[in-house]
Amino acid sequence: RSVTLLAGGVGGAKLAQGLDRATDDLTVVVNTGDDAVIYGLSVSPDLDTVMYTLAGTANPETGWGIAGDTFATLEAMARLGEDTWFRLGDRDLATLVLRTARLRAGAPLSATTAELAAALGVRARLLPMTDDAVATFVDTPAGRLEFQDYFVRRRHEDEVLGIVLGGIEEARPAPGVLDALDADVVVIGPSNPFVSIGPVLAVPGVRERLASSRARRVAVSPIVGGRALKGPAAAMLGAMGHEVSALGVARLYAGLADVYVLDESDRDLAPAVGELGMAALVTRTVMGGPEDRERLARELLAA
Ligand code: GDP
Ligand code: CA
Repeated sequence: RSVTLLAGGVGGAKLAQGLDRATDDLTVVVNTGDDAVIYGLSVSPDLDTVMYTLAGTANPETGWGIAGDTFATLEAMARLGEDTWFRLGDRDLATLVLRTARLRAGAPLSATTAELAAALGVRARLLPMTDDAVATFVDTPAGRLEFQDYFVRRRHEDEVLGIVLGGIEEARPAPGVLDALDADVVVIGPSNPFVSIGPVLAVPGVRERLASSRARRVAVSPIVGGRALKGPAAAMLGAMGHEVSALGVARLYAGLADVYVLDESDRDLAPAVGELGMAALVTRTVMGGPEDRERLARELLAA
């Protein structure tokens, strides 16, 4: 069976690995709203997190970056007086240098991603949501912040007033993205609904295609017991007037999913999910190692 996963970074990447172990026809459509140019290099944090996780080389402690990477380049830059708030490992920089070179030579991000992923032995098809430039901004009391400034430099501590997706109206889905929404199963990963899944759905044509897809559509809650496992998803829900719970996220996906996956600790929300027109699947959703990710993936595919 063909399976497509919509994903951001760490949460989506874990499920991508589980699905990759459970099926041999996996496409992952990844958020590129977090992409940034840092030191002139094209950084695609979510694509790289998914790519390294599928390649088995992701740093298990952080979920992003490469296991065992060193930071000699950044340390040398710090000695030159640079404030190196965006952590880029030496091996990670190799990916960025090559990506930047390919893009400068005119290759689209989708082709560049396919090339890098193949070199790392990734079997799944890895697609950026778009080849066009989309930039997520976060409106805060301190003004409109570029996403990495908000998320990394300022440690997502600012109150969130709103999310702005620069360039989204002009963006086109990358080749293969719309077709991938007609897979047998489409999974919305346990990623941030506003700054990971939100940008993917906002690429013109994607939300409509998913809404009318005949795929079995399964969404996994990124909120467990009223909290995000990492990052600002819970804070963003509250700040933007939604209920801070797995149900608050379910409401955002009504009409886009047939099945909504809740953690056991949120079992009492199942009837309310049912009222939204989605079947609730209650299971253990906090993913541990590769076997546990595969276990969750198989439960989703059986739902
Ligand atoms: P980012 O781009 O690295 O911030 O990652 P994502 O947007 O893909 O993932 C962040 C979200 O993933 C957070 O809201 C977490 O609560 C959620 N998350 C991370 N790991 C897990 C997990 O094992 N299970 C579930 N259900 N959610 C998870
Ligand atoms: Ca991200």
